[in-house]
Amino acid sequence: MDVIEGTIHVEGGQISSIVEEGVESDDIVIPAFVNTHTHITDSVAKDGARARDYSWEELFIDPGLKGEYLEEADQDEKREAMHRTLQFMKETGTGTFADFKEEGIQGVKDLKVVDEGREVDAVPLFQGEYLTEDDDLRTEIKRAGGYQSYYPWDEQDERAREICDELDKVFALHSGEPGPDDIDDALALNPDYTSHMVHTREEDYEVLEDNDIGISALPRSNLVILDKLPPLERLHEHTTVALGTDNVMLNSASMLREMEFTSKLFDISPCEVLQMATINGAKLMHQADKIGSIEEGKRARLAIIDTSRELKELRDPVAGVVRRATARDVKETVLL
Ligand SMILES: [Zn+2]
Repeated sequence: MDVIEGTIHVEGGQISSIVEEGVESDDIVIPAFVNTHTHITDSVAKDGARARDYSWEELFIDPGLKGEYLEEADQDEKREAMHRTLQFMKETGTGTFADFKEEGIQGVKDLKVVDEGREVDAVPLFQGEYLTEDDDLRTEIKRAGGYQSYYPWDEQDERAREICDELDKVFALHSGEPGPDDIDDALALNPDYTSHMVHTREEDYEVLEDNDIGISALPRSNLVILDKLPPLERLHEHTTVALGTDNVMLNSASMLREMEFTSKLFDISPCEVLQMATINGAKLMHQADKIGSIEEGKRARLAIIDTSRELKELRDPVAGVVRRATARDVKETVLL
């Protein structure tokens, strides 16, 4: 990832050329962010709990506080709240996100309705647990952007893994969040990526590396829910690490905030953090040929950062964008 001064030419929604030349503008143009892990249905429950007051189980299991909030809200409320989150994502520079969809088939349909005609690309990952005997796994994966399900996994998940391969869809999991018990089974399914891995064990690094299993790292979420952090430097040494913002209930879906947090908590360079928020996410979501970097032939999906205010005296443009930029500094998110 180089910093150059120049002009990006766009034709028909694609980057047609990048010309290195002196320009009058002081704007910084970066690839639009790729958020690899959200749950935006819980946009209806923003800050509905101070996570430290509850255990992980109390927040998320049978149905947990989050589930109660989702049951209380009607469909229109959920759709309106999701719509606001999509708008906020655009305002904070995000172009594409993978949503670990709640509420099964209906959840995927709701997100598609909300996303219809909008520029932010939602990739709903169908939640496998909701499948009934009357539903067809392949049809639902095809309709969604991919598949996700929760531990313990079974034959349906193995079939889903194969179908995702055939259809070039994303297969992603959660593992190693409250504890390490689900990690072996998660890695055995060979997902495109798994999320959290706060409890990564020494033997897991080799498995991740040998099988090219990526990581969606969610450090803000881990800190607020578990009061722990993932071993991000070591994960980054062994495999592709991307970033995500997780539940909207507990964290805003801002990749700017996730980058600042990651850059300040871990010994990872600003440039590598920016890659985690852009091209690495595109790789995990099978879209690295189209988005995630500024290259000729890729879609013009760009965040334009204004350096006339808070970012005025920047000594290092990449560090400034990663560690300091806020929604106010995003002049425009171009999503063609
Ligand atoms: Zn999650």
